Amino acid sequence: MMKRVAVLGSTGSIGTNALDVMAALPDRFEVVSLSGGRNADLLCSQAERFRPRRVCVGQGAVAVRDRLASLGIEVLEGEAGLIDLAQDGDVDLVVNGLVAGVGIRPTVAAVTSGKDVATANKETLVVAGHLVTELARKHGGTLVPLDSELTPIWQTLDLHSNRDVRKIILPASGGPFFASSVDEMASVTPAQALNHPTWKMGPKITIDSATLMNKGFEVIESHWFFDLPAEKIDVVIHRQSIIHCLVEFIDGGLIAHLSSTDMRLPIQQALTHPDKLPSRVKPLDLVEVGSLSFHAPDTARFPCLRLCYDALSAGGTAPAVLNAANEIGVAAFLEGRIGFLSIPNVVEATLDAHDRQPGDTLDAIYEMDHWAREKAGLVVEGLAGNGQ
Ligand code: MG
Repeated sequence: MMKRVAVLGSTGSIGTNALDVMAALPDRFEVVSLSGGRNADLLCSQAERFRPRRVCVGQGAVAVRDRLASLGIEVLEGEAGLIDLAQDGDVDLVVNGLVAGVGIRPTVAAVTSGKDVATANKETLVVAGHLVTELARKHGGTLVPLDSELTPIWQTLDLHSNRDVRKIILPASGGPFFASSVDEMASVTPAQALNHPTWKMGPKITIDSATLMNKGFEVIESHWFFDLPAEKIDVVIHRQSIIHCLVEFIDGGLIAHLSSTDMRLPIQQALTHPDKLPSRVKPLDLVEVGSLSFHAPDTARFPCLRLCYDALSAGGTAPAVLNAANEIGVAAFLEGRIGFLSIPNVVEATLDAHDRQPGDTLDAIYEMDHWAREKAGLVVEGLAGNGQ
């Protein structure tokens, strides 16, 4: 069956990989629309190759219109354009590779129109998981994770009943400071933190991997994607990033998913599920891998993981505050204003000062997000003033 797909964030790493997967399966997917933020040149090349009916650009639609005019491609602009693409009647599946907060409203628009959404955008479920999953249920769409760990877990759980699952275990690479002491971590530079051992990603998510915030976000996402309580979601440090998914059943058996590190695999799994199709992903050579190691996460050195569990159990607006404060903390670290270990301090101080609300509308969540950014900014100023 041919799926008609909107690729939001098509010029980012998820978007380019998704297009790569779909280009290799032309009788499965029709790319109906594309959106790119700042890289208008790449967006135009993609449009020339995939010939979507519509594209959306962050800004500068006039130049894009000029370039694509002869192809008869409609060019939209900004958030309104993204929302238009997300609820397009000619789209079956929305692939959401949008960055940060930009991804939330288009996802809400897509699920409200009953579409299936495959999303790599962590913020959507971290910030508004309760709203988005409720809308998806009500309108009959499916939310599918696009993530090296969450996609194989989703795929495995889809074949089993949740009652049979004792827990899922999210493997984490542990980031570049897995073996560092607290003293060493205190003086880490942004360049060192941006040097991720196994995955090549953008700066924000690379820092989130180094603090384990990214894994904590996946704990929160897992709660919403898989309808599992926090007690059934564990994290294990697995340095090699060979095992991407672990599901433990009540009979004591454990299913693991192993593969080489290539984002095209989880993307293809998500897009073609339950079918298996050939891909260009390099098969795993187990002898070359040799051995696999596992360690417990150290939440004393990596408090962000614990803060995510805390925010998930607090619920309501707490995860939105966690996310907003983290963005401010990470940006301040990348600008050299605060130290690496101050990122969780910014998050924790903001969460502690937060007056938790149910957050039952997107507006209520955004209001708290706005408050949290201001509060976190003040915490950063205090820390920067003390040279921390
Ligand atoms: Mg991941």
